[in-house]
Amino acid sequence: MNWIRGKTIGRGSSAMVSVATSQKTGDLFAVKSAELYRSEFLKREERILSTLDCPQIIKYIGSDTTNENGELMYNLFMEYASGGTLTEAIQEQKGKLDEFSIKSYTGEILRGLNYLHSNGLVHCDIKGRNILIGENGAKIADLGCAKWIDEVSNIKDSSRISGTPVFMAPEVARGEEQGCPADIWALGCTIIEMATGRAPWASDGDDAVSVLYRIAFSGEVPEFPSFLSENAKDFLSKCLERDPKKRWNTNQLLKHPFVDEFNSKQFKESKMKSPTSILDQDFWDSMEEVIETPRNVTTGCSSISVMDRLRKISSSIEPNWECEDDWITIRNENCLQSVNFAGEEFEFSTISVDEPTTAPTSGSDSVYNDDEDKF
Ligand code: ATP
Repeated sequence: MNWIRGKTIGRGSSAMVSVATSQKTGDLFAVKSAELYRSEFLKREERILSTLDCPQIIKYIGSDTTNENGELMYNLFMEYASGGTLTEAIQEQKGKLDEFSIKSYTGEILRGLNYLHSNGLVHCDIKGRNILIGENGAKIADLGCAKWIDEVSNIKDSSRISGTPVFMAPEVARGEEQGCPADIWALGCTIIEMATGRAPWASDGDDAVSVLYRIAFSGEVPEFPSFLSENAKDFLSKCLERDPKKRWNTNQLLKHPFVDEFNSKQFKESKMKSPTSILDQDFWDSMEEVIETPRNVTTGCSSISVMDRLRKISSSIEPNWECEDDWITIRNENCLQSVNFAGEEFEFSTISVDEPTTAPTSGSDSVYNDDEDKF
């Protein structure tokens, strides 16, 4: 496919995302790009995304490699979600969605999760920023952290905990397991995000390490927004059940009165919005960075690794919580070594760094794929 890269619409820890146009059809799509030499995560995401077909999950279109300004880029093509992220949609509504909208988005995310879980996949990083708003409603995106349930059951031997600390379920924060129930907990956290405009635990003023300890070891659950109906609160209580065995699964939740019988059609017409830019960051946004951490091969316990890292970071420096660039996402590439945070290098036995990618500048914003070997 010959295509032209348009403006950058997002940037994550592992890749940048642009709009793109097919030269042949003029169709608009999204392209997520990373330098070829560090495109392992993108290729992994492609392997997963390409197996999926669900209206509530962002659709895979294809991939290619381009040569842009002498740099080889790996590009993953996806359906373009013109409404931006759910987090952006919440901010546009002054940080709080009404219950009708919450119900609609929750039902759609739940249907996407039901599809993933029944196909043996755990998303591992459900949160407002990974939900995109398309023409037909909410769609789950960013499957970069997703894991097959087989992998999860082998977690003690080889795998790792991943995700965003404030959305982590207690069993994940403790480094015990990260199965389908962890996605349900994160869905509950996302409902709180929709209702309050903030990540759960945000109102308590605790630092990152304290929050992670609270999630892992206190008996607490995040505070439920008081304005929600009893139905909504009951739904939330089924998601934010600390014991993963008692937490409801997607099939049970789909029958809950909060989302059951919901007809989202009328709502879809009213919620489409224009694409928006990258969000401002604040303290709690900073805490929402994705962490992928390997399990400690000796102890088999990755929660120690997560918390040690957070404690070390928070006690060693005075971070600028406003500055997105100070937080560099940590991801596992089998052998992680060190992380640069706010200009300082932190050594860990198994940690590596993903530097933020650089967007193409104006003159090179448009490229052709390398089948044509030209820009
Ligand atoms: P993370 O650091 O959370 O792992 P990432 O590198 O995996 O991020 P994504 O979360 O997939 O990147 O994308 C980054 C941003 O790009 C999203 O928050 C969103 O704003 C935008 N984006 C991604 N995919 C699409 C899409 N298909 N349509 C519209 N916007 C998109």
